[in-house]
Amino acid sequence: MFDLTGKIALVTGASRGIGKGVALALAKAGADIAVNYVNNEAKAQETVNEILALGRRAFAVRADVTDEAQVKAMFSAVTEHFGRLDILVANAGTTQPKDIFQMELADWQRIVDVNLTSAYLCAKCAMEIMREQKSGRIIFMASQAGERGALYGHAHYAAAKSGVLALSKTVARTAAPLGITVNSIAPGVIFTEMTGLAHNDEEIAELTASIPLGLGTPEDIGAGVVYLASDEARYVTGITLDINGGSYIH
Ligand code: NAP
Repeated sequence: MFDLTGKIALVTGASRGIGKGVALALAKAGADIAVNYVNNEAKAQETVNEILALGRRAFAVRADVTDEAQVKAMFSAVTEHFGRLDILVANAGTTQPKDIFQMELADWQRIVDVNLTSAYLCAKCAMEIMREQKSGRIIFMASQAGERGALYGHAHYAAAKSGVLALSKTVARTAAPLGITVNSIAPGVIFTEMTGLAHNDEEIAELTASIPLGLGTPEDIGAGVVYLASDEARYVTGITLDINGGSYIH
């Protein structure tokens, strides 16, 4: 069940947080991993070392996923290194604790670029490779905020993640005849550095109390990615997998 032996995956933003959890989960299932990062080379190398210790192949690739030339160079590096690409997890993203009165146009553009434009740029490069291979898996890291709006401001982030969901469903239609599936995961509140950046202690306490299963972990998201990347999920495309500890039943 869920054996990814021999598959090649690129995980963007895999130096820490959810991306790191996803990279390790894919590696535990048998995949070899390209670990993308933008600033944190040492942390990216830690992820690589943990994957190598599992007996899988891995390397770190620096690229700002908002920059088209850097994204193209990253995909070339992956195919040069591993010879193919089976799984893209477009995970890199960030937010900013501002409401609409506090945010400036530059804030809006940066958050939309990091969360949404990056998803388009990476998906396009991946699809070009996967179209030739006639197979592939693309998984976007969206957010619960993209489905129901963010809770404490973050309008740019929520709008960008809604865009990711629409991109995911639309590209799934284009990709289906090419043997490629395209899905999104919408995490609830997962404890990472971004949670600390996005919310103060009071908000985190409030959020934790409001979620039936409390806060989630990067491993909880990794398990969903492994499923969507697996052969067993071959008939699953265009969906949003909600991994949120029961937020929607509260
Ligand atoms: P995180 O801990 O802040 O990690 C962000 C990762 O993205 C890091 O690896 C960072 O690389 C990378 N990154 C940021 N900007 C980048 C850029 N321009 N180019 C390439 N890489 C970039 O965030 P996280 O909590 O793990 O979140 C990961 C994803 O899950 C994001 O898309 C986020 O929106 C989504 N999500 C998170 C939560 C949550 O509760 N944590 C909930 C819903 C959705 P460096 O280390 O090099 O800076």
